[in-house]
Amino acid sequence: MCGIVGYSGRAAAAPLVFAGLKRLEYRGYDSVGIATLDGNNIQIIKKQGKVSSLENFVDGLSGNTGIGHTRWATHGKPSDINAHPHACGKFAVVHNGIIENYAELKARYFPDISFTSRTDSEIIVRLLDKFYSGNLLQTLKEVSSLLKGSYAVLVICADFNGFAVMKYKSPVIIGGGRGESFAASDAPALAGLCKKISVLEDGDFAIVSAHRIKIYDNNLNPVVRQKIINHATAASLDLNGCAHYMQKEILENPTAVENTVKAFSRVQGKLKEVFTDINRVIITGCGTAYNSGLVAKRYIESFARIPAEAEIAGEFRYKNPVITSGTAVIAISQSGETADTVEAAKLAKSLGAKVIAVTNAPYSALTLISDVVVPVAAGHEICVAATKSYTGQIAALYLTAKLLASFNKKSAVRLMKNAKAEICSVVPLLKSTVAHTDIEALAQVCARADGVYFLGRDIDYAVALEGSLKLKEITYIQSEGYPAGELKHGTLALIDENKTAVVIITDEGLSVKCENAVEQVLSRKGKVAVITNVKECAERLKDEVPVIEIPACPKELSPLLSAAAVQLLAYKTAIILDRNPDQPRNLAKSVTVE
Ligand code: GLU
Repeated sequence: MCGIVGYSGRAAAAPLVFAGLKRLEYRGYDSVGIATLDGNNIQIIKKQGKVSSLENFVDGLSGNTGIGHTRWATHGKPSDINAHPHACGKFAVVHNGIIENYAELKARYFPDISFTSRTDSEIIVRLLDKFYSGNLLQTLKEVSSLLKGSYAVLVICADFNGFAVMKYKSPVIIGGGRGESFAASDAPALAGLCKKISVLEDGDFAIVSAHRIKIYDNNLNPVVRQKIINHATAASLDLNGCAHYMQKEILENPTAVENTVKAFSRVQGKLKEVFTDINRVIITGCGTAYNSGLVAKRYIESFARIPAEAEIAGEFRYKNPVITSGTAVIAISQSGETADTVEAAKLAKSLGAKVIAVTNAPYSALTLISDVVVPVAAGHEICVAATKSYTGQIAALYLTAKLLASFNKKSAVRLMKNAKAEICSVVPLLKSTVAHTDIEALAQVCARADGVYFLGRDIDYAVALEGSLKLKEITYIQSEGYPAGELKHGTLALIDENKTAVVIITDEGLSVKCENAVEQVLSRKGKVAVITNVKECAERLKDEVPVIEIPACPKELSPLLSAAAVQLLAYKTAIILDRNPDQPRNLAKSVTVE
């Protein structure tokens, strides 16, 4: 959440910072702002709204050093005043994170001053101004020691021809070369600009100028941090002829799954080591990642016959969980930076669990604390609503569960080969699902509904939750995912002619029971549509309700196909309602705050 970008070099800073912010807009789009330094003069422009709101003002900012911010508001409503950068005296700052003790610090150090903004971030710049001694690095250290919460902060100071960085819990990468240096929240901002990037660690500071990047640890000792290759290219961030990133990323589901299967082989050996003596698994994540965790629980229990639980990370970390040395915690996060998931993984590790990260980010806060990283090779996902990272996670978790099931078995090698072949056999079916599923009529029905219930049993229930999440986040239609059998225990009271139920049925054995739910909704005048790959079910229902048929596939892999169908449904419904599916209101990607 929040994208920050910094530049110091030979070129005019503002256009480069602006271009970086555009590429980070998925992290927040409540307001945008840029500060530049020209000589000793700090210039600032900031506005409520998307990054493009600044387009016509960028050329008005001079100077070869600049910092910028695209905001997802946590404290203080979206407004021009609350937009970053915040300035005081010789300083301007942009901040990603939350300063949790800002009110306390304000009361202590600035009891009589009324702040300009309502943000938690302004305290940072006020403190920098108050404690500035002429030594920028020392001042950063002093101020950071007062802050509680999370922060990635870029600072410009009128006395220094460059910018400075402070990092704790929120991500920052730095890169440079040939007389130019950059910093940003995430790699896409530096696509085509830096091939190698250093990833800062918690407690780090950096002093960055055109020709020099100096990184310091929390004791102000110079350090060299891990350098990674920036795979983001301008082409990889292109819409490729699609109208939205969501559409493009749904079409990329098959590639995400295929590449994830390939990438799994690299970590199989390490994962096997980590699985030694595991007798219980806890899967944790937030949002879509939690939903894929529910599928993983089903995989682990049915393939490996090992007890597994799925826990929402933001709950798990506060519940004093029971962890023994035989517990493995699988932490799932697209960005690898999801604050609650990272903290849950840290807690699990401190209690003696083995931690397995399942992430689309090869190097992130989560990977740094994990015993092994199972890659999701979905490529950059720009749309706020997760699509290809979900199916990538399902593929990674399927193989993880199969590996656990094959542990100590003579046939382990064959089992794993078969598991990969099974997923690969579904890839062409997934290609046809994303390309040919005709969901338009159902999307029209959903667009007119007052509420949409996604129903399913067992593994279909897990996908129902994801379908509901997808629909509500990008269409703003009230939606719930519900176990089909539970409907009659309360929720049926909400069904009337303005409600729609989308029933997912991919298990022949459960089909008739799910059809009962279809009839119950119809009897209460609700509208119903069915997404199924059970031929008999489609035959029975097709004259009664709209049926969206998806290809038949091995039972446990049906989430790959049914998820693609519900993703398409959410996308089409958003388009009918004229919503922007890539940038839903109030949301942002990569939830780095708690
Ligand atoms: N807490 C800051 C604000 O509300 C930064 C928010 C963020 O990082 O998303 O302005």
